[in-house]
Amino acid sequence: MGRTLKQDNMDFNIFSDLKSMLACYQAFGVENLPVDLEAFKSIISSRLSDRGLMLEELRKDIGECTRCKLSKQRKNIVFGEGSSSSKIMFIGEAPGKEEDIQSRPFVGEAGVLLTRLIEKMGLKRGEVYIANIVKCRPPENRNPEDDEISSCISFVDRQIEIIRPEVIITLGRIALQSLMKNPSLKITAVRGRFFDYKGIPVMPTFHPAYLLRNPGDKWKTWSDAQRAMEKIKTEVVK
Ligand code: URA
Repeated sequence: MGRTLKQDNMDFNIFSDLKSMLACYQAFGVENLPVDLEAFKSIISSRLSDRGLMLEELRKDIGECTRCKLSKQRKNIVFGEGSSSSKIMFIGEAPGKEEDIQSRPFVGEAGVLLTRLIEKMGLKRGEVYIANIVKCRPPENRNPEDDEISSCISFVDRQIEIIRPEVIITLGRIALQSLMKNPSLKITAVRGRFFDYKGIPVMPTFHPAYLLRNPGDKWKTWSDAQRAMEKIKTEVVK
């Protein structure tokens, strides 16, 4: 029988706790520890790469999806990309024209701005994980409809469950409302304020496409991103 995500989470926490405990003994000069830290490091990194495998499995589950009407006109499914062990996850709305062609999230004009934001946060694009609520392009870049969001939302839920980021930044109204399952949320009213998604802090901010039209609001997204970065714990499991 395959391992469950819960078992993987438990293993990860145990390894992480043991690593801290052994490092503490070592700092106090205890020699000949029962297990060396290098061995733990390799176990931990193999667990981390299990997340990559789990994402691959999820991609296989989606398959050549026809669960909603967006499948009729899309060129490619845009699953998401980035580090499977990222502490930070960006969630947008749906792929646009360029994303549909390249099968990658945020590679058009809005993506250039998002990448600049990520770099301003001191990170490389490949170090974070980027996904969308809906994995196929809505025709003419219209907003995704409720039935399309309902057909697709479980996939982003599972991406979050696998990656277990320490903070999520939602980009724009649709991403926030869909993730929080609250259609009354207004981005201008709530951006900059943390929400909670299954114990993970969620920072809503403007969509980069909005910022391209309203560059005067870029500082607000920068401030939201800085608040999100404060949530990322300094202790890193390498
Ligand atoms: N806008 C989104 O919300 N997602 C993308 O991937 C690109 C543009």
